[in-house]
Amino acid sequence: MSAPIYDRVALIGLGLIASSMAHAMKAHGLAGHVAGHARSAESRAIAAEIGFCDSVHDTAAKAVEGADLVVLAVPVGVMGDIADEIGPHLKQGATVTDVGSVKQAVIDAVAPHLPAGVQFVPGHPIAGTEFSGPRSGFATLFVNRWWLLTPLETTEATAVARLRALCEGMGANVDEMDAAHHDLVLAVTSHTPHLIAYTMVGVADDLGRVSNSEVIKYSASGFRDFTRIAASDPTMWRDVFLTNKEATLDILGRFTEELFALQRAIRTGDGQALHAYFTRTRAIRRGIIEAGQDTDAPDFGRTPAKAG
Ligand code: NAP
Repeated sequence: MSAPIYDRVALIGLGLIASSMAHAMKAHGLAGHVAGHARSAESRAIAAEIGFCDSVHDTAAKAVEGADLVVLAVPVGVMGDIADEIGPHLKQGATVTDVGSVKQAVIDAVAPHLPAGVQFVPGHPIAGTEFSGPRSGFATLFVNRWWLLTPLETTEATAVARLRALCEGMGANVDEMDAAHHDLVLAVTSHTPHLIAYTMVGVADDLGRVSNSEVIKYSASGFRDFTRIAASDPTMWRDVFLTNKEATLDILGRFTEELFALQRAIRTGDGQALHAYFTRTRAIRRGIIEAGQDTDAPDFGRTPAKAG
């Protein structure tokens, strides 16, 4: 057990990411006191019942009082409103971070509300599941996952180093980059793939000639993996696309061009082009496994579902 990195941490939002942080900080003794706030009385009651916060508050303003670190773990579209509410209540010398999946829009929305003497270190853990809410968190969510920090030019290096130590204490690997680059990287690795998964599941749902029960019954042939991604929280993902518009549209444009090229190869019977393309993409999968970001077990390590 390490010495606490922050005496008092306030979590605003008590869903998957915040509750996982609370479990991880407790497991490793990284915070002296964890204060929490969620919008609904129901989520606050669940957090109190599970006990991953030392205190639960009915407003964000109360939760941040005296906190050395404030973590904004709400959907990207409401970060600005929360920052506006908590700004006057932040302790001098405190650090504010967030875990939003988009960085430039969060910086634009949050930074203007933070008083002088408060450090802002935007962040994004590249870790998640398709589940949400205060019951979905677990202490090992961040282990061996990347946590990207996008500090501003004005952010003090000591504040960044301290937050880095917290993320590493929860098991994450930390990288720093600028916000615009983050948004482009994530448009490729996360945002556009989610949009494609949503679309594929929508296509299957709309297709009259194949029944929904057939789609479900034979889903192990590839569709199942799309459905896991397409089950992700609708509010979170709406906000991601509305706030990472440019980068997502850029990547989506390239995606459609490639899709048309493959469509043409299929129509013209160009097997060589298809084979070369699939050989190239297979190597990416190998790279992900070698980097320890997924398992090399067949079927992603799943145990076969029981029949019946
Ligand atoms: P989540 O499980 O849906 O939890 C969201 C939390 O925010 C809930 O506690 C919710 O309160 C609270 N909230 C929503 N609107 C609010 C408002 N207007 N005022 C105050 N609180 C509000 O979401 P999550 O997956 O933890 O995601 C949180 C953030 O992490 C998002 O910005 C997301 O982009 C980012 N992120 C998510 C993932 C992922 O895979 N899920 C991965 C990395 C980063 P109630 O429960 O009371 O509604």
